[in-house]
Amino acid sequence: MKIALDGPAASGKSTLAAALARRLGYLFFDTGVMYRAVTLACFKHGVPLDEESAVTALARRSHIEVIPATSDDGRMETVLLDRDDVTWEIRRPDVDASVSIPSKYAGVRAEMVSQQRRIAAQGNIIMAGRDIGTVVLPTADVKIFLTATVEERAHRRHTELVSRGQHSIFGDVLASMRERDRLDTTRAESPLKPAVDAIQIDSTGLTRDQTLAQMLACVARVAPVTGA
Ligand code: C5P
Repeated sequence: MKIALDGPAASGKSTLAAALARRLGYLFFDTGVMYRAVTLACFKHGVPLDEESAVTALARRSHIEVIPATSDDGRMETVLLDRDDVTWEIRRPDVDASVSIPSKYAGVRAEMVSQQRRIAAQGNIIMAGRDIGTVVLPTADVKIFLTATVEERAHRRHTELVSRGQHSIFGDVLASMRERDRLDTTRAESPLKPAVDAIQIDSTGLTRDQTLAQMLACVARVAPVTGA
């Protein structure tokens, strides 16, 4: 069973997909970390983000691994870039602000998508991203498109940064999120959009548990969901 979960930044995909995966006993894979790791690799190697062929070459030779969490510090998984633990570095605001640039390059996407399909072939999985239902797993058994207003998403991200002790200004987070939405939805390659057969869930004003219940209901339409 493959579940595709797409939606804009901070729509709650990762937290909810992780909860759903625990509930169903499925693997959860957040594809956004791969694009973040490519962006960080560009920073580390001094590759200008607007040089498409250099960024693509770097994406091809970078070794990105996503493994179960190796530390009990609030992480959902451990992300390794060329064997270095970059789990928190890829969440930096400068990565947030730049990640949509490497993500728009066809060669970068082709590399990431082929790795993602290999991962999905391993078994039951919930894969979260922007193009999972439309491009990566177009024949997924369940497709969910999770949204929330940009203000609510910015508020969630701001609260998350503050809770991690990071300096954050709400207005900056909101502006950066609006810009990322714009870039992700208007790019030529695999823009963020719901698959025609996706079920849309708007989590604005809903609690995590209410949203999770809606997601479970979507899954239950295709396969029985057991347990509490
Ligand atoms: O989900 P997250 O916010 O971590 O994703 C970071 C960025 O990676 C997105 O804003 C988007 O530009 C890119 N991305 C993508 N396709 C995916 C997942 C993420 O283009 N499947």
